[in-house]
Amino acid sequence: MSERIFIGVAWPYANGSLHIGQIAGAYLPADIFARYHRIKGNEVVMVSGSDQHGTPITIKAEQEGKTPEEIADYYQREFLDCWQKFGISFDLFTSTGTPNHTEVTQDIFLKLLEKGYLYKNTVSQAYCPSCQRFLPDRYIEGTCPHCGDPKARGDQCDACGKPLNTAEVIDPRCRICGTAPVFRDSEHFFLKLTAFTDKLLDWVRQQEHWRANILNFTLRYLEEGLIDRAITRDIGWGIPVPVAGFEDKRIYVWFEAVIGYLSATKEWAKSGSDGEKWRSFWQDDGTKSYYFIGKDNIAFHTIIWPAMLLGYGDLNLPHDIPANEFLTIEGRKVSTSQNWAVWMPDYLERYDPDPLRYLLSINMPETSDTDFSWREFVRRNNDELVATYGNLVNRVLTFTYRNYDGCVPQPGELDDQSRVLLKKAEDTLAKIDGLFYGCHFREAIRTAMSLAQETNRYLDDKAPWKAIKEDRQAAATSLYAALSVISQLKTVLYPFLPFSSQKVHEYLGFEGKVEDYGWKRQDLPPGQKLLEPKPLFIKLDTALVEEETARLGQTS
Ligand SMILES: [Zn+2]
Ligand SMILES: [Zn+2]
Repeated sequence: MSERIFIGVAWPYANGSLHIGQIAGAYLPADIFARYHRIKGNEVVMVSGSDQHGTPITIKAEQEGKTPEEIADYYQREFLDCWQKFGISFDLFTSTGTPNHTEVTQDIFLKLLEKGYLYKNTVSQAYCPSCQRFLPDRYIEGTCPHCGDPKARGDQCDACGKPLNTAEVIDPRCRICGTAPVFRDSEHFFLKLTAFTDKLLDWVRQQEHWRANILNFTLRYLEEGLIDRAITRDIGWGIPVPVAGFEDKRIYVWFEAVIGYLSATKEWAKSGSDGEKWRSFWQDDGTKSYYFIGKDNIAFHTIIWPAMLLGYGDLNLPHDIPANEFLTIEGRKVSTSQNWAVWMPDYLERYDPDPLRYLLSINMPETSDTDFSWREFVRRNNDELVATYGNLVNRVLTFTYRNYDGCVPQPGELDDQSRVLLKKAEDTLAKIDGLFYGCHFREAIRTAMSLAQETNRYLDDKAPWKAIKEDRQAAATSLYAALSVISQLKTVLYPFLPFSSQKVHEYLGFEGKVEDYGWKRQDLPPGQKLLEPKPLFIKLDTALVEEETARLGQTS
């Protein structure tokens, strides 16, 4: 029986390029999971979009003398290009800048207001008398009370990493004009999070399938007690507040960005034949909703978004939030401002997608931080992808193609060793199935690779390249067994390595897409015409390690 799976993926800020830390944290695991469910024949919708609001975008726009729309549109195009080249298979990647998103956000706002979950309160806010505007936290600069750095922002000090309140910053200045801000009263809407603490605690305590770090973090947060949070602010860029008297204010980005999961599903449904199709993904009890995010975003998905959903009513809560830990680069934390990052557009300009998909899968930061290094990238590519998997596919297919008229050979009776190998391939399919269900992607790809290793050992024993001279039938049998395993490998590796799996699928003589053939044993009909194979992966020159490492931290 087929299942229905909703997959929501973190919304990247449209103010800079994507780096591989974000890919390892959310986008790749989400894509692997979506591809797995699609090949299983399940109904999947995977959505996300760029977050176009918030001060990071207005600051970038002011620095570059552009409008926030221009900045957001530029990065939206770049993101779409990255998904296409890297094979991140969104059903819809939209943005928070659409009329649809505004409509859905305002509907949620008004419904929560009507149900008494929003209320007005007056807060004291920084105001620049010279610019004549309220200043968001990030528009304030001053001296850090902890480390004395003179460039601390109103929300955080980058030098020591401590979060700050605007009021703590010593000698605060307006980041635009340098004037000292004054504090003025301003009226805002608050989300009554305190009303949800008990309901959320009950719900979270039932989520025993969550990763331990996520469950524990969420429980600690809830047990400390929630506080109500302002959901509007004094800025001009963002979604208008649908209440008279609030024309100069906008809905806070943290409140509306999470609504994107719902608005994107509605947009996706409208673009298809059935505009109401979003309902089955959001209102049907049988649907499971998964959210793929980085660990810096957990509370928004385990507490705040569920509170909003509970308040609104009749919408599914998350089933799982398999947030990943961080990926460090050459032993150091990613810093976009110091250019200590591997940028996706740069990577995709120079290398194929599957080698990075492979490395980030087999080294995924699922339960603890993991490290990316260029040395590891080259080693994994050359010693594992090329030497273990690529070489297996290439030597079996090339030899068969040349010696059996370009067709799948007719096997003789299988001996014990061949039967054991084929049984192992079938067990692998079942084992990986279970691993996918628990979102254990690292273990899943390791299991697939160990089947490839086992098949190489089998071929070393059988040596069909020698056997063919004395016993053509025995050689055909072992090649047939090896081809059968390769046919299963392309299925189990498809969620991880979609580009090379599709190639193997075609070399084996299958038509159409790997995905259409399902998650099952795919027997090869003897006599099926093969396609002349080419090497699946390219061996990389170790000289690139030094070149690439030297680029890190370079700022022009
Ligand atoms: Zn500091
Ligand atoms: Zn100013």
